Amino acid sequence: MKESKIRCSFCSRSKDDVQILIAGAEGHICENCVANAQEIIDAELFTPGKKSAPTTASAMPKVAKPMDMKKFLDEYVIGQDDAKKILAVAVYNHYKRLNQQIGDDEVEIEKSNIIMVGETGTGKTLLAKSIAKQLNVPFTIVDATVFTEAGYVGEDVESILSRLLQVCNYDVEAAERGIVYIDEIDKIARKNDNPSITRDVSGEGVQQGLLKLLEGAEVLVPPQGGRKHPEQKLIKLNTSNILFICGGAFDGIDRIISRRVQTHSIGFTVNKDKEEENRKQILRYVNSQDLKSFGLIPELLGRLPVVTYLNSLDRDTLKAILTEPKNALIKQYKKLFSIENIELQVEAEAIEYIVDKAMEYKLGARGLRSICEVVLSDAMYELPSANETTFALTKDYAQAKLEQSTLSKLKVA
Ligand code: ADP
Repeated sequence: MKESKIRCSFCSRSKDDVQILIAGAEGHICENCVANAQEIIDAELFTPGKKSAPTTASAMPKVAKPMDMKKFLDEYVIGQDDAKKILAVAVYNHYKRLNQQIGDDEVEIEKSNIIMVGETGTGKTLLAKSIAKQLNVPFTIVDATVFTEAGYVGEDVESILSRLLQVCNYDVEAAERGIVYIDEIDKIARKNDNPSITRDVSGEGVQQGLLKLLEGAEVLVPPQGGRKHPEQKLIKLNTSNILFICGGAFDGIDRIISRRVQTHSIGFTVNKDKEEENRKQILRYVNSQDLKSFGLIPELLGRLPVVTYLNSLDRDTLKAILTEPKNALIKQYKKLFSIENIELQVEAEAIEYIVDKAMEYKLGARGLRSICEVVLSDAMYELPSANETTFALTKDYAQAKLEQSTLSKLKVA
């Protein structure tokens, strides 16, 4: 065969009409046909919604390395370093696992769903929310207490996924890579360590219901949530790649942990401060065994392999929360005032006062917000109609406003 007769086997262009002809076993292909073929591949395989779309690196969220993820979390969440590190690694591994699914059939990396133990208001939800923000994946928060075992009053567990679908506009593929935060997981614990002989409507049944969601399965989801109706059209969702993060206060778990680690049982210490200090320290030893003793069933714990804890907030942390994070409360109020062209100046003593009161009322970080609202609401009401350009929040002003309010009735005697 003369060389000038070589043609592209796809478009028949001759060698003279193209720049490159790549030789195959039975024929040739030119650069134009390679480009066309690539377009067809892209359209068929990488368009969202196409059934044949494989799980590829390009379809996955870009995941920062654990150390960078922690740095990001540091901008929003004060302290809680242990939880941040454990979360960062678990999330990194989770998405690494997703990226490696194609053609990699030797070792299957298991899902790393997470459970966080910590008092209310210590930043569990904030951590989960911040991780989802960093990854830019759909995120939803659900409360475990609204679910019931199928057949009882309450929502079906599948409606957890309805909320995830709602936040991403029913984009099934996006939802399948999302994060779900299940709050108050401790409230569905069974009441004692023994498997119940009677049916436990509120707790164990829901835990059983959660199993298949957490592990990864094809689940039929009612689009609007709530209960499934026979006539309702259901959406099929695969949960294998959804990361579940559970959180709970697990009141009393400190006693279970201390019994296990055989330290002095809390409650017998004479010194109140020491007792409190012990209680705070002990959480760092929490593990699945303690959660089982608390009343979570072993099957559920098996699907929540990563366990971490959050510290309770001390005075310094509360103060930092008020002023340091990217969207710290004081920064938010300054912004609100600046929109009115008013500069809000906050005296250091006023900050100390607000933190003292939050400690006194035992309202945690959530209390900071309530106190600031009470202190600043008159100013926010009056100033937009005045001609001021600055407003100084002093300790005396804060004290006067707080003492006039109903919040001050919370004062511990
Ligand atoms: P939890 O889920 O543990 O009950 P949240 O994450 O909902 O608590 O926290 C309640 C609020 O308190 C958050 O909106 C946040 O403003 C603040 N907060 C709590 N802990 C922290 C923290 N460690 N760093 C920054 N803000 C915090």
